[in-house]
Amino acid sequence: MEHRQAERTLHFIDGRFCEGVAGRNFINLNPFTNQPINEVAEGSKEDIDLAVAAARRAFDEGPWRRMSVKDRLAMILRIAEGIEANAEEIAYLESLDTGLPISQTRKQTARAAENFRFFAEMVAARLHGEAFPVDRSFLNYTIHKPVGVAGLITPWNAPVMLETWKVAPCLATGNTCVLKPAEWSPLTASKLAEIIQEAGVPAGVFNIVHGFGETAGAALVAHPDVQLISFTGETTTGMEIMRNGSATLKRFSMELGGKSPVIVFADADFERALDAVIFGIYSFNGERCTANSRLLIEESLHDRFVAALEERIARIRVGDPLDPATEVGPLIHREHWKRVNAYIELAKEEGAVVTGGGCPEEFPDGNFIRPVLLTGVRNEMRVAQEEIFGPVLAVIPFQTEAEAIRLANDVKYGLAAYVWTSDLKRAHTVAQAIESGMVWINSQNVRDLRAPFGGTKYSGIGREGGHYSFEFYTEVQTVHVALGEHPIPKFGHSPQPKQATVSH
Ligand code: NAD
Repeated sequence: MEHRQAERTLHFIDGRFCEGVAGRNFINLNPFTNQPINEVAEGSKEDIDLAVAAARRAFDEGPWRRMSVKDRLAMILRIAEGIEANAEEIAYLESLDTGLPISQTRKQTARAAENFRFFAEMVAARLHGEAFPVDRSFLNYTIHKPVGVAGLITPWNAPVMLETWKVAPCLATGNTCVLKPAEWSPLTASKLAEIIQEAGVPAGVFNIVHGFGETAGAALVAHPDVQLISFTGETTTGMEIMRNGSATLKRFSMELGGKSPVIVFADADFERALDAVIFGIYSFNGERCTANSRLLIEESLHDRFVAALEERIARIRVGDPLDPATEVGPLIHREHWKRVNAYIELAKEEGAVVTGGGCPEEFPDGNFIRPVLLTGVRNEMRVAQEEIFGPVLAVIPFQTEAEAIRLANDVKYGLAAYVWTSDLKRAHTVAQAIESGMVWINSQNVRDLRAPFGGTKYSGIGREGGHYSFEFYTEVQTVHVALGEHPIPKFGHSPQPKQATVSH
């Protein structure tokens, strides 16, 4: 597969691709070769100031939030068409940039288009308020208004899918925004800017500042003209963002890390559960927030399931992310690769048995780790408690349903969970007992865009998706209107009190 160089990646501010004020750049590396793909403009506080000012002008003075909803949503639909027309290029850039297999980035690109289509239709149906007739002389009603300038901060693990998941509802509801993509995956965001521009979206409505979290990201969070922050990334980053944004009292949505359990009972459909567990941890190179990184398996099934896992994992195709046959590609960058390998070493120190791992001989330069299975794991080990964010599955046996629930909940995270059983009552009982934002029963991560997405505990605050996104990206205003002679309490109508005489 040909790994081409990409053009320089620039900021997109006020309808123009531009260099940063300070003229600094950073090198974007290919995870497959660790060679440079291109140079990327490195954003500073000054670039954020320009981008927020452009977004503010577009919000305050531009046509975006004033135009008819029909015209605005027509543009949102044109963005979906633009993504579809450029789908192969977007999937290529995404795989080049992130190391995600192209068979998976093609699906994510389709989802990116679907995000715009879905939110255009959802906002068309939902953009209305409520009326509260009080009596014949008084009416209260609500309207949903855009919030203002949104700061959208995204991670590298599914860039175009997560960026569009935020940009689509944000713009459809009439906001303007500044997107700060992850420094490790800038390519598809800039392609999205081209498509948004071609769709006719006015200058300043959508802006991008590339660069690092500690500088560009932090300046966006602290900016007083930014009303809301939608953040997806690590839990510790989310905490810092909340601290830094508190001085300007922002609205936050926090989609954070996970350590999600998949519980497989002995009565589960063996083959379907096996496929789901494998896909759920090793797809997206294991760099997936909802990855089922802890397999809680009923003891009577343990040996048979583990044997089947080992046999199948050895056959997973690890290789060039641009090869359509590849199932697992290289991890995003060298530091992350070292971190995941350190967890594999830690697993050994903690007493787990490690199967798999290592780099395939034919790709010595890439950030590869072959799928890893950890058996003999106890839930209190660090490898069972901390988010590894790589192709590493920890297997923990249980004996009773109550124990499975206890183990599932015994982590600080609460993003997703998966339950496999043929007992309907147990499926629902266990699902409801698990502390997580989402539970899949006998299924793997398929969801309708109307359903809320998000986590509990250290996995996040708030929900996005469907009308939850609508609520997040709009401000509700209540209007109280007198239709007739509504009585008004009278102050200051009593006779003037006598002045007290002051004697000296
Ligand atoms: P990260 O927190 O390191 O970075 C995410 C983004 O935040 C990047 O754009 C980064 O530049 C920016 N950032 C970093 N420090 C910042 C600061 N001080 N102020 C403002 N912005 C800052 O996360 P990552 O390594 O890119 O992504 C992996 C993490 O994301 C994992 O923990 C994963 O579970 C999580 N994630 C969660 C979801 C979800 O929906 N819950 C989805 C995908 C990924």
